[in-house]
Amino acid sequence: MSRRTAMLCTSSGLIATAFGVVVDRGGDPGPVHTEAQEESTAEPTAEAAPEPGRQAWMPDATLRPLSVNFTPGGLKEMRGLVLHVQEGENSLHDHFSDPAAQASAHFWVSQSGEIEQYVSAHDRAWAQGTGNPSWLSVETSGFASRPLTAQQVDSVARIYAWGMAQHGWPLEPASTPQGRGLGIHRMGGRAWGGHSCPGPLRSAQAGEILSTVRHNSRG
Ligand SMILES: [Zn+2]
Repeated sequence: MSRRTAMLCTSSGLIATAFGVVVDRGGDPGPVHTEAQEESTAEPTAEAAPEPGRQAWMPDATLRPLSVNFTPGGLKEMRGLVLHVQEGENSLHDHFSDPAAQASAHFWVSQSGEIEQYVSAHDRAWAQGTGNPSWLSVETSGFASRPLTAQQVDSVARIYAWGMAQHGWPLEPASTPQGRGLGIHRMGGRAWGGHSCPGPLRSAQAGEILSTVRHNSRG
């Protein structure tokens, strides 16, 4: 338990324990996401803002809403889905329900393909630093040293197909925080916590996930 929580990429622990990197929030001259900036973009735009009528909860998922560790109404735009690796096993609901965790994700997928949803698609999960107001997030059980199981690929593809239908995600990979589509945690660099998550093996499976979405959409 303690090892799992310490290694989880959405916790602050991994930065210090796994990579020896400490995020310097003091003198960073890089892009700063402020509340003021969010206010200025709060006006709904044609395709970016989540629309109230669109589904907040995925019907196929087991709904386990959190009561802490998320920002209600905090999703300011909908760029796509960010893939994470848990560096552990078993449901993250208890961990994300601990106020001390200060972390969450919208979805979690078990190695056998079960999907749990913890945070509404209208709300902001705390998964990837300054990317949180713009992206939904999915944690995948297991370790960066092992690829996603076939069942996990299929389930992440089901989440992605739902996001395409409900929230307009494009069927393409995203490679930067300014892009749209299926992205990985690492693409956000330092502003997203400086993580290597989800590691080379699972990052390389993004194309396989999108291919599965494409294949399934053909029926
Ligand atoms: Zn991550």
